[in-house]
Amino acid sequence: MPKIVVANWKMNGRLADNRELMQAILARLPENVLSVLCVPFPYLAQGGEILSDSGLKLGAQDVSAFSDGAYTGQVSAEMLVELGASHVIVGHSERRALCGETDADIADKAARARAAGLTPIVCVGESLEERDAGQVAEVVTRQLDALDGKVDMERIVIAYEPVWAIGTGRSATTQQVSEVLGLIRTWIGQRSAQPQRTPVLYGGSVKVDNARELFALAECDGGLIGGASLIADDFIAICTAAAATKHQ
Ligand code: PEP
Repeated sequence: MPKIVVANWKMNGRLADNRELMQAILARLPENVLSVLCVPFPYLAQGGEILSDSGLKLGAQDVSAFSDGAYTGQVSAEMLVELGASHVIVGHSERRALCGETDADIADKAARARAAGLTPIVCVGESLEERDAGQVAEVVTRQLDALDGKVDMERIVIAYEPVWAIGTGRSATTQQVSEVLGLIRTWIGQRSAQPQRTPVLYGGSVKVDNARELFALAECDGGLIGGASLIADDFIAICTAAAATKHQ
């Protein structure tokens, strides 16, 4: 299985800049890596046009837990599929914190995404207070437990994103990442006959200079990249690091 590198553009971009960034990445994307660009909703159509039939996949950053109907402002999984998306991030810590999304909401969104044929990238991770209180395993297990019975484990991606490492420039250490990814792998192994089919990623201040050591971890199937995904050279270097660690 190739490593996976997911770009989370968050609420960034403009039409002209997006085109330049996507084309720069497409021109130098290494082989042996699965890369997904998760762009803001208004730019999905543009992404669908530029990335169609290319080596880059398109994703969104959220999805409604409902299909069509009276859900003003929401975007359904079917709409994302229509615009060319294959993946969608659900449960990003910014949405948990800023939009009050609960573990149950996130599980519903992941299930809806699956039902429409999308691959949900489900984010889990503890806050600094929770880490300091020794609650990492408890918090991550609670977030994962919400998915139990709602989503087919072999058709999703899990991303471990400690909240304190996101956008702070302070990545988790390889030991911290290894411990939590191991816990996630054990959890998946208890629920899936083919646990190796569920990729487990790390996200949180992944940069050019730490990508290789993080991706080299046996438990790590790739990364979810925020800030560095907006700079073509950096994103390509991170994808190259992922491609280089494929067989480890
Ligand atoms: C993210 O937004 O999911 C993320 C990991 O951001 P950053 O890489 O900027 O820490």
